[in-house]
Amino acid sequence: MAIKITDECINCGACEPECPNNAIYEAAEEWRFSDGTKLSGKIVLLNGMAFNADEAQEPIDDEVYYIVTDKCTECKGFHEEPQCAAVCPVDCCVPDDENEETEAQLIAKQQFLHKE
Ligand code: SF4
Ligand code: SF4
Repeated sequence: MAIKITDECINCGACEPECPNNAIYEAAEEWRFSDGTKLSGKIVLLNGMAFNADEAQEPIDDEVYYIVTDKCTECKGFHEEPQCAAVCPVDCCVPDDENEETEAQLIAKQQFLHKE
């Protein structure tokens, strides 16, 4: 499943540079599918939803750092364990029970984000 950041976050910023998918954003910051990925222009996600990868999307949280679920692969394809959870000093990067995905789905997502 994807990882989420809880409101215990102290906004230290340690996790953001560790994410291989650029799925972590500072509070109130806009996000894009194209940030840190190979995606650009019109894209259709594996779940069928269509986006413009270069278009700025509304922040998901205005108070603490947040993770874009559609960009989080639980670090599959890059690392053995979620890097955000490994560095977070207050252990607030936790499994997102509302976004459960299989390992195969996470690998497919990683390939979708970074395919040439
Ligand atoms: Fe990024 Fe990995 Fe954390 Fe997901 S688990 S947000 S891919 S660092
Ligand atoms: Fe928040 Fe943890 Fe990331 Fe620091 S490392 S910004 S406390 S989620």
